[in-house]
Amino acid sequence: MKIQKSRLALAGIILITILSCNQTEDVTAVDENVTLSLAFEQFDKNNTDIYLDGSNVVIETNGLPNHTTPYWGAGNALYVAPQAGFQATPSLITGFDGSATLTVPVNPKKASSATSTSLGSIGIAITGAAIFNDSEGNGPLNSAAVSLDYTGAHIGPGVYHYHTEPYAFTNDDDKLVGIMADGFFIYGRKCNSTGNYPTDLDASNGHTTITKYATDPTYHYHIDNDLYLNKYYIIFPGKYQGTPNAIR
Ligand SMILES: [Zn+2]
Ligand SMILES: [Zn+2]
Repeated sequence: MKIQKSRLALAGIILITILSCNQTEDVTAVDENVTLSLAFEQFDKNNTDIYLDGSNVVIETNGLPNHTTPYWGAGNALYVAPQAGFQATPSLITGFDGSATLTVPVNPKKASSATSTSLGSIGIAITGAAIFNDSEGNGPLNSAAVSLDYTGAHIGPGVYHYHTEPYAFTNDDDKLVGIMADGFFIYGRKCNSTGNYPTDLDASNGHTTITKYATDPTYHYHIDNDLYLNKYYIIFPGKYQGTPNAIR
């Protein structure tokens, strides 16, 4: 009799557990569409402010990198001496207001056609600084490449921005790099889904797989794995596959 009672109690506990589990799942399913991606946890909290606004997510940044570079200028706590061969542009980070805001859908969709990027910010990196494309002024990046610091960034003119693989926080790996203006995340040259270089990328170095921060397959980009000038990996040389939003 005693045993039966305990069994009954145990069955009750199991039933309650099952009910609570179901309840939790339901709540999660309802909230899923308006929950911030865990990827946003990777963004620097001092430099960015990220919040939901209805079905959109707003990313506000002060535009400052959270790491060392010669572009902070001698005397700054984050100043680092330049690498050999480096030719600085005459500008310093402290001379510009890099603050910007990007608003994108929480669940961005691919557009019916791709859109070319333009000069200026095309994405926001997890450090808070801007991501630019493969052009400088109206030409290719090659003549300005000597002014890129050790982490593929410079100022010229305007805000501090990355053109090539930003070694300060990703180097031949699958780390999150930032978010592009169309709301899709961009990762390092390797993909978390396989632990290796993806082989199924589209013309924008994008594909749909699971990521570190989503168990459902999600469209995302990777840094271009083709060497540029035998030395650099351009972050985003292609077109947006989604609908770009202004970063300003
Ligand atoms: Zn540039
Ligand atoms: Zn991937």
